[in-house]
Amino acid sequence: MRTVDLIKAKRDGRILQTEEMEWLVVEYAKGHIPDYQMSAFLMAVYFNGLSNEETLALTKAMVAQSDRLDLSSIPGTKVDKHSTGGVGDKTTIVLVPLLASLGVPMVKLSGRGLGHTGGTVDKLESIPGFSTELAPSQILNQGRRLMGVMAGHTQDLVPVDQRLYQLRDVTATVESLPLIAASIMSKKIASGATALVLDVKVGSGAFMKDLDQARKLAQLMIDIGTSSGVRTVALLTDMSQPLGYCVGNSLEVAEAIDTLKGEGPLDLTLLCVELAACSLTLSRDLGIEDARRMAQEHLCNGQALSKFKEIVSAQGGVEEVISDYSLLPQASLTHTLTAQVTGFITEINAEAVGTASMILGAGRATKDATIDLGAGLRLLAKRGDFVNKGQPLAHLYTNNKQALPEACSILEKSICVAKERPGIKSLIIDRLEGPR
Ligand code: URA
Repeated sequence: MRTVDLIKAKRDGRILQTEEMEWLVVEYAKGHIPDYQMSAFLMAVYFNGLSNEETLALTKAMVAQSDRLDLSSIPGTKVDKHSTGGVGDKTTIVLVPLLASLGVPMVKLSGRGLGHTGGTVDKLESIPGFSTELAPSQILNQGRRLMGVMAGHTQDLVPVDQRLYQLRDVTATVESLPLIAASIMSKKIASGATALVLDVKVGSGAFMKDLDQARKLAQLMIDIGTSSGVRTVALLTDMSQPLGYCVGNSLEVAEAIDTLKGEGPLDLTLLCVELAACSLTLSRDLGIEDARRMAQEHLCNGQALSKFKEIVSAQGGVEEVISDYSLLPQASLTHTLTAQVTGFITEINAEAVGTASMILGAGRATKDATIDLGAGLRLLAKRGDFVNKGQPLAHLYTNNKQALPEACSILEKSICVAKERPGIKSLIIDRLEGPR
């Protein structure tokens, strides 16, 4: 086989055979295919797409070139979760201890944030001492002992995807549904879970701005999961405004802990309960209503919180943060944004809020930028709330005084206030499931 022939075939819209996709991935992994040829191939895929069979073949070929985490020594159905990324999304920090407290093992490997969306690893590192760099043997020991692990991706997890993703980033080929699906699902399959809950976000703060595209991505990932022996459920959820009120690492950890105490924001609590309920139905013969009730109970009766404490302690973190949020990194400067007019909040553009938070220091504009764990912002009102002129809308936190004017101006423009009350938008838009 010759790479140039496969590029030409894809350029001309031909469907590649499984063996051809495998060959391409194997040769690329060996370093036999240069990045300029792979870039051309990716661009051909960007324009002409991949069939479901090709996407599955690409996913499986990438997994075959990766180490796989063998979770078989942890009893029960191992559930994993993936969110396609959003602003203020701290669900992993709630979901892992919540599910573990319900007896559902969850080994969650997460990444760092880039651009307007935050990463779970950065958030967790706000907890003094907390380590996300765990060796596979530590992950398995903790998984067996506590049923819950929150760690970072290792270098060995689907290295072909890591190289392809870097290449896609600089060749304008990230926004391709089959490439996104293969990238996400290869990592999930290699992470060893037997069931998967996907949270596919839709809206201004999400990767997928459009419901139709989000639905297609969800279905494609369900099909890949099903064909790979991973039972997969997907929720389509609204990301047109941030999730919860807090955006920024320490602030989000505190909000997640509030949620584990049963005192979290309604939207965040609802999403965590729904994700937990889907996970429970994947792991046991249980109806969704019973599953929701059990998840809600564990948030209110302290069981999820006490599991979180155990996980924090096992991973070297200071468990006292649970009752004393001042132990989390703090920002030295606070600024309050107030409403310029009276009316209903009709929109809070999630992407703009994420950008404002990044400028305050909470996120990375480039991969190598350092972040300020204490920086971020706290919204004081959300879509549909009525506000009076002069009423505080948000607190901004930073250690960088120069960042405040720009962040403040972006945040101000992101919040629309109008006379008319906006229509109700559901947080959970739909639930898609593969065959049982
Ligand atoms: N996240 C991934 O892991 N891969 C993509 O291609 C896009 C988002």
